[in-house]
Amino acid sequence: MYTPTKATSSSSGVGSPVLPSPNGKGVMRGEAVCLCALCNCGKHRCPPRPADPLKFNGSSTYRSDFLEWPACPVHGATIPHKDFERLPFNAQSTYAHDFVPHQLQAPPAPVSPPKPVATLPFRGETEAHAQYREFNVAPSDIRWEGPKPTPSKHEKLPFNATTTFRHDFQPWDVKPEPVPAMQAPKLPHIPFNGETEAHAQYRPWDLGEPNKPAPALPYHPRPDDRDFLSEANKQYTEKHLEKCPVESLPQAPTPSNQPSAWEGAHVLYNQHEHRFA
Ligand SMILES: [Zn+2]
Ligand SMILES: [Zn+2]
Repeated sequence: MYTPTKATSSSSGVGSPVLPSPNGKGVMRGEAVCLCALCNCGKHRCPPRPADPLKFNGSSTYRSDFLEWPACPVHGATIPHKDFERLPFNAQSTYAHDFVPHQLQAPPAPVSPPKPVATLPFRGETEAHAQYREFNVAPSDIRWEGPKPTPSKHEKLPFNATTTFRHDFQPWDVKPEPVPAMQAPKLPHIPFNGETEAHAQYRPWDLGEPNKPAPALPYHPRPDDRDFLSEANKQYTEKHLEKCPVESLPQAPTPSNQPSAWEGAHVLYNQHEHRFA
């Protein structure tokens, strides 16, 4: 990769002589180096210089034959309205030829419902009116007592006789039985002055101090010599990929936008000022 040295003179490079780059891949002018010389991967070149747009100074046939007409407002086209005259039809159609007139009779008049006959008042006496008797009932007697219970067939009648159980019954004079008082018997307390066999055979043992837990031993793990690497991991060799500096450059300007950045077919870039020359 070509690494330009820091120049102390003017950095624009405009007016400086155009020299071949030290690596012989491109050209340089002052601090600016073309993209061919900046590339270190061999895949980048200066973009092709776009052709300068040429002006057409001639005159075309269309332009020479063009006649300029005065502009006038355009009105909507009016469509003439035609009224088609209706002519009388003097011939006879098939429908009129085949038509047979029928004599129509007037429909019967609607039958009106019979008028209701006027009712006469009934001045006689009905049988129910003749048999009616008015009862004199006091207001206090009118009381609703609910529906009367229907007498059941198995109605219970009072039993006025004497049964055998009642006849043989003799009342006994029962007195409550006295409840005996429950009291604990009082036994005399006699002290034990003798010596038991267990007490005679007892021997005190010297247990000493209670055992203390043993101090924990320091943990010294052994170095792990197991190999967990795979064969692909052992054969892997890391390669350092150097990124081409041209990939991180912005898009090159066109000759019309920045003429100073172009030198013939090469576009120059200043790495110190990070801009196209
Ligand atoms: Zn170049
Ligand atoms: Zn490159």
